[in-house]
Amino acid sequence: MPTQARVVWDTSFTRYNFGPTHPMAPVRLDLTARLCEALGVFDADGVEVVGAEVAPDELLATVHDDAYVAAVKAASLDPSTAEGTYGLGTEDDPAFEGMHDASARVVSGTVDSARAVWEGDAEHAVNFTGGLHHAMRDKASGFCVYNDIAVGIQWLLDHGAERVAYVDVDVHHGDGVERIFWDDPRVLTISVHETGRALFPGTGWPTDTGGADAEGSAVNVALPPGLSDAGWLRAIHAVVMPLVRSFRPDVLVTQHGCDTHAEDPLAHFAVTVDAQRAAADALHRLSHEVCEGRWVALGGGGYEVVDVVPRTWTHLTAIAAHAPIKTSVPVPEDWRAHVEQVFGRPGPRRMGDLTTEDGPLWWRSWEMGYDPASEVDRAIMATRTAVFPLHGLDIHFD
Ligand SMILES: [Zn+2]
Ligand SMILES: [Zn+2]
Repeated sequence: MPTQARVVWDTSFTRYNFGPTHPMAPVRLDLTARLCEALGVFDADGVEVVGAEVAPDELLATVHDDAYVAAVKAASLDPSTAEGTYGLGTEDDPAFEGMHDASARVVSGTVDSARAVWEGDAEHAVNFTGGLHHAMRDKASGFCVYNDIAVGIQWLLDHGAERVAYVDVDVHHGDGVERIFWDDPRVLTISVHETGRALFPGTGWPTDTGGADAEGSAVNVALPPGLSDAGWLRAIHAVVMPLVRSFRPDVLVTQHGCDTHAEDPLAHFAVTVDAQRAAADALHRLSHEVCEGRWVALGGGGYEVVDVVPRTWTHLTAIAAHAPIKTSVPVPEDWRAHVEQVFGRPGPRRMGDLTTEDGPLWWRSWEMGYDPASEVDRAIMATRTAVFPLHGLDIHFD
């Protein structure tokens, strides 16, 4: 029997480290792995936890320019030489010693995940250290050095996949992946994000639908600041599900940046861990529906490193393991004690945010009707209007 879920993790991934004042603190990965361990996810039946080597240059070159890789290597040896060219040595992407190896290891983890799913070694694969969606062919951007997602998708295309769907629910626009496959009709990229009017990278408009020979292959839902669970899940269900069903991918690759959360310090949504878990669950089910469960799930952004990231990605990993954890489950005390020791505060008590007073997680499906007075509905409608006809779908009824 193939592995149920192949999970990429060892402590070497914490070397992806931009320094003590940078928001992308590697402790978020360490705390996620510790929470997975504390809840028995890594020991669950059918789960295989694997490390990753540093990706060779030939693999990076399937997506990235040679000159850029050479620049990352130079900055990696002597960080003081990076002065903003290729996006390196900037406030968002400061150079650090070992940056090339740390970044290329993340790539290898995602490619290995894609390979395992494609070759049938594992039904699902999770790399919560990956999902670095802002990296471009020729430059670092938005805390991302190499685009592990794009290298993974390119690997699938180069090994026989004819169609790959990429769904990005990070609060930021998945611009790097979109740009890299802009002209490629074999890759459907769907990004559900906070509008570029309010947030980095300032792109991702509904009318951005792909290059001349790939119209409709890029999809953007640009949602208003302040968005909460009901609107976020409504947008995902109203846009992602019909398009992916219609596209019929061979593999589903998803990016689960959890910076949509209300407590995230960098963005302006008000989503809960419960809704993030529900989105992961829905995308998992979608993979079974459309591509026999060939699902590669990745991490991404997420800067509330104690209360949010560990729970959301532990849920994601547990869902892939077919051992989902209820949101009412208490967070293990030994994990909380560790957090208290490191951060001087105890961390969350339960695996979800919503309490019985909040009522159950709720969202309204598109078939229930469209409200032109709602800013969320207008954003969804703009996307459906721009791309649904290109896929032969009806903007009102599909
Ligand atoms: Zn499954
Ligand atoms: Zn993000």
